[in-house]
Amino acid sequence: MKKSTVQLTPAHVEPKVYEDHWNTDGSAHVKAPKWAKYQSITASEFPSPFRGKTDPLAHQIGKFVERIDMLRPEKDGPAYLGKNAALSYTYPDVKNVAINQKMGDLDTVLDEVVELFEGLPNWGSPLAMCNVIPQSNTAAIIASMLSQVFSANILEGEYAQNVHKAELETAGMIGNLFGWDPVKAGAIYTWGGGGCWTYGTKYGLTRVLPNSRTKGVRTDAKVICSQQAHFVQLNATDWTGLGSDNIVHVRTDPDTNQMDVEHLEEILKGFKADGTPVATIVCTMGTTDASAIDPIRKVREVMDRYPNPKGYGKTVLYADAVVGWSWVYFATYDFENNPLEFSDRILPILKQNGDAMKDLMVADAVGIDFHKVGWSPYVSSCFVYKDAEEFENLHRWGGDSYLQVRTPYNPMYHTLEVSRTASGSLAGWTTLKYFGMEGMQAILGGILETKYYLYDLIKTHPEMICVNPDDTGLITLFRAYPEGVDAAAQYKKELNDESARDDLIKHNKLTHAIGDKLYEWFRAGKKIDGKYTPYMSFSTGFRNTRYNIDGTDPDAVIYALKAFPMNVFVTPEIMKWALHCVNAAKAEVLKS
Ligand SMILES: *Cc1c(COP(=O)(O)O)cnc(C)c1O
Repeated sequence: MKKSTVQLTPAHVEPKVYEDHWNTDGSAHVKAPKWAKYQSITASEFPSPFRGKTDPLAHQIGKFVERIDMLRPEKDGPAYLGKNAALSYTYPDVKNVAINQKMGDLDTVLDEVVELFEGLPNWGSPLAMCNVIPQSNTAAIIASMLSQVFSANILEGEYAQNVHKAELETAGMIGNLFGWDPVKAGAIYTWGGGGCWTYGTKYGLTRVLPNSRTKGVRTDAKVICSQQAHFVQLNATDWTGLGSDNIVHVRTDPDTNQMDVEHLEEILKGFKADGTPVATIVCTMGTTDASAIDPIRKVREVMDRYPNPKGYGKTVLYADAVVGWSWVYFATYDFENNPLEFSDRILPILKQNGDAMKDLMVADAVGIDFHKVGWSPYVSSCFVYKDAEEFENLHRWGGDSYLQVRTPYNPMYHTLEVSRTASGSLAGWTTLKYFGMEGMQAILGGILETKYYLYDLIKTHPEMICVNPDDTGLITLFRAYPEGVDAAAQYKKELNDESARDDLIKHNKLTHAIGDKLYEWFRAGKKIDGKYTPYMSFSTGFRNTRYNIDGTDPDAVIYALKAFPMNVFVTPEIMKWALHCVNAAKAEVLKS
């Protein structure tokens, strides 16, 4: 420090200089330094701390309502926002950018934000049916926006105050739904279904390897899941330091895609014999595409018969229900009286799904994604656990010096994250409150009615075949063959008969090309007969053929077009139109 050159200002002068920067209303004086003038501008554009009609935030939101409307298409417009759905940047050159020297103009910056949304899929469009991506419900959007306005931080009670009820009451409401003691249950809103998987893995590591929190993971404990489990198993085992080599896959039934409990038992027997501990067993309660639900009650029975060796804790049973969880709303539906008047067609399916989800109660912890089949904005995934006292004590660290405990609930002491947005907890909680039981049952059942409508429509096209007729989820997977081909007979051959392998591969290529063509049309804003085409997707192998059960032949798999209409604006006309466009895309592909 060059102490000698510092000119010490007399104490009575410095406060006066600073005071002279400001007018009595708090704005910067004309002679004030530039920084003070900037501060003045910023203060006039930050949200007002006080009530009144001059709030810049309220004013901008007012303007924004118009901007939001301008992003949306006219009625019957394309399934994207804005005017042009093409990508407007080149990668990686896009990163060749620096911060502007001058402060930005608020309106201009906000206009630039709006531009970023050009071309984003419009999830509310009835033409959008590509994946498990719903439009968010109004209540949840407003709730999560409110969290942004007032910056609730749910790391601890002092900065969350009553906003914490959103997370705590989620634990109660979901706990009740699962048949747990709601007061004993706990919940942590976290970063996606991937975060939930990671929490599930960590719960097992902490419980089973008692010293791992301080000494590190030094034992090759296993994480067991089915062959159909989500790929996020890799992140969870990698980032917790366990290593993905410690994942053990249980075979799945080739038709139902469910975990084979006999194989699980063999695996557990082997580990018992050689003294290997199992940290976590994961049941996928609704796989992403096939909606397969693992038999979790049987898994619980089997695992309880093979406890870990002495010195290790009890294996955690985690249910990855992030995409399938909402079926639990049908666990208590009155199927006898059918108050929501669902068709006889779907009642048995609703019952089957509801019954399967009843067994969530035997899990130690469950992951649920409100942003999937919950119509909520990101990020609102929730890791819910049955025994809050155990989970929270197991993962607790001590206090620290700069945060004081002011309320009884301070999750930062047991969560992976420190600061957490309340956006997720408010979105989830609001969704539970807004839909209630019947609202959620109606929207789910409604999609299932649409799915079977589509199934029947596909049947009227002899050149098309639905290839997942037994799946009880919301997705329709189907193949479109050239005109004149009897799709049912052809598909049967391709699925069962190795002699049809060449045909299979040829038609897989066709499926892929139709899927790509539809995507190209969607992005280009293509119209057929004056109408925009749907936004759909496809799977490059949703199952293996029967002569390739173990998957050794990477090409002997079934490709399929995928329709996942999950918004409330879908109509029978739209579904008919989607199939019409599939045929148009097929014709175009076969022409070239
Ligand atoms: C989507 C999904 C995940 C990953 O969830 P994110 O919310 O995308 O992180 C995990 N498991 C299953 C079964 C899923 O469908």
